Amino acid sequence: SVLSPDPESDAELAFEGALRPKSLAEFVGQSKVRGQLELLLQAAAIQSRTPDHILLAGPPGLGKTTLAMIIAQESGRPLRMSSGPAIQHAGDLAAVLSSLTPGEVLFIDEIHRMARSAEEMLYLAMEDFRIDIMVGKGAGATSIPLDLAPFTLVGATTRAGLLPNPLRDRFGFTAHLEFYEEGELEQVLTRAARLLDLSVDRDALGEIARRSRGTPRIANRLLRRVRDYALVKGTGAGMDAVHAALDLYDVDALGLDRLDRAVMMTVLRRFDGGPVGLNTLAVSVGEEAETIESVVEPFLVRIGLLTRTPRGRVATRDAWRHFELAPPAAGSP
Ligand code: ATP
Repeated sequence: SVLSPDPESDAELAFEGALRPKSLAEFVGQSKVRGQLELLLQAAAIQSRTPDHILLAGPPGLGKTTLAMIIAQESGRPLRMSSGPAIQHAGDLAAVLSSLTPGEVLFIDEIHRMARSAEEMLYLAMEDFRIDIMVGKGAGATSIPLDLAPFTLVGATTRAGLLPNPLRDRFGFTAHLEFYEEGELEQVLTRAARLLDLSVDRDALGEIARRSRGTPRIANRLLRRVRDYALVKGTGAGMDAVHAALDLYDVDALGLDRLDRAVMMTVLRRFDGGPVGLNTLAVSVGEEAETIESVVEPFLVRIGLLTRTPRGRVATRDAWRHFELAPPAAGSP
């Protein structure tokens, strides 16, 4: 769908790369996190040491990869990129760690998906810049200590709670990224339109911002679909083009995508508005509980369609209204 791009698509990746802010000053929104990072990087610079390890937590597309690149850039250090799913054995991690140059920034995306054995190796590496490499098997196995160059680990995860405590505790700082305000997304879009040399009406940018699910990546993608529409239909990129293009790609007035809607319809229709437990909900929708909890729900909660209660997820009055459904009569079984 328009919201979850084909990772193989070079055009989409090039497009994202071109729009990535290169410095903290260019990075829109997240003012709290920006201030926190600035202080941390400046303190490290004054003391000429590697900055503390940093964990970036938040739903996809809010700028975690971008921030990791900026952290390296602003501290004048090289960046190595890896990801949890690519680290399936402790040996995979040992290879990366032992080849780092002094002061390098190591970015591990989706760090919660790393193999357990690698996680344990990482504890020691983060704390003492040292690892133990196991050689041989069974009774003859020995471990050889190996000193590492000091590095800064930047980990990204959709939710800090997905990490085991010992790993979480070894980060000097956790940045919690929030969904962006409409005004901030409008700034992201204005910047993108300028960089892509697109002329889009202001009110049209505002409408795209409103329907971008609080997420810069989605905002930039929707902008591109509107550009496509204007190009193909030979119209200007105004409000009409926005409405037509976003309808074509099934983005509703609140910016909900297909999975958001599937979750809401399941809670509303199948479970009469809830409460329904996370796992039951995940099975009904056919998605992983983790995806529902860290990708789908945060936005639904943020815009007031869903609440989390000790007994499960409950649809709000606004949810019934948005989907134009009648709530079950009070007192009915
Ligand atoms: P994932 O974890 O899914 O990779 P992410 O949080 O790492 O997502 P990024 O890849 O950093 O997200 O950002 C996605 C795109 O959104 C970037 O290409 C960038 O153009 C844009 N973007 C993100 N944050 C900002 C921002 N604060 N200002 C301007 N553009 C941004």
